[in-house]
Amino acid sequence: MIGAGSLGSEVALLLAKSGVGSITLVDPEVLDYPNVGRHMLGVTQVRTFKAKSLAEKFAGDFPHMRSIKYFAEGWQSLYGKRPEVFHNTDLIVSTVGSWVAEGRLNQVARNEADFPPVIYGWAEPFSVAGHAVLIGSNGPCFACGMDPFGKALQTVCEWDIETTRKQPHCGASFQPYGPVSLSGVAALVAKTTTKALLGEVRPGTEAVHWASKEEIAEQGGRFNPDFLNSFPDVPEFGGSRQFEWRQKGDCAFCGET
Ligand SMILES: [Zn+2]
Repeated sequence: MIGAGSLGSEVALLLAKSGVGSITLVDPEVLDYPNVGRHMLGVTQVRTFKAKSLAEKFAGDFPHMRSIKYFAEGWQSLYGKRPEVFHNTDLIVSTVGSWVAEGRLNQVARNEADFPPVIYGWAEPFSVAGHAVLIGSNGPCFACGMDPFGKALQTVCEWDIETTRKQPHCGASFQPYGPVSLSGVAALVAKTTTKALLGEVRPGTEAVHWASKEEIAEQGGRFNPDFLNSFPDVPEFGGSRQFEWRQKGDCAFCGET
């Protein structure tokens, strides 16, 4: 698991409960007070490394797990020192939502022999929609579905309003969402992960989950017309579906095959 934030920690918890026996958590960040509202760790773990505290929680809660490892650092620096941590795994799940980190991961995954498949999971603004994309060593790469700035080409929603908020007293911005709406996205990523581990979903597949038309409208958004066009029926009650993650002919990472 690359990323043990609010989404990654929920996905990891669902996987542990589903019976995944071996998990490695990679995240350089320390839990802070503003995280607590939507992170599965609580106030007693503030100022501890998320990866470490999560690993300790799992070790106590899930005796069935054979191996729980953590690395409190970014994936790039860990990969530089210990590439075997990545190579000796069945599947990598990234929920960091940063194009700097995930664009590089995509590049390494494409260039290194025997790199495991990767699932990239992320939420749209307000968590009214979420995505989980399984990328293998052949076929489309992650960048095939992204613009040059790492923004997904296909989104469920579109917005007229500014969807990020500034944190008080500092320049950082964040996407507001609550733990209830995020749980739908976490379930989608966890489900896609267990299916990938069982060989029930093939690389080059994107799973999408979305809330109802009303919930999206409540947050000031609406369905993207391109998303609506991919449905013969009406998606307005919310749901989930799988799509093909298409190869981009002029992709800078994998090019034409
Ligand atoms: Zn590509």
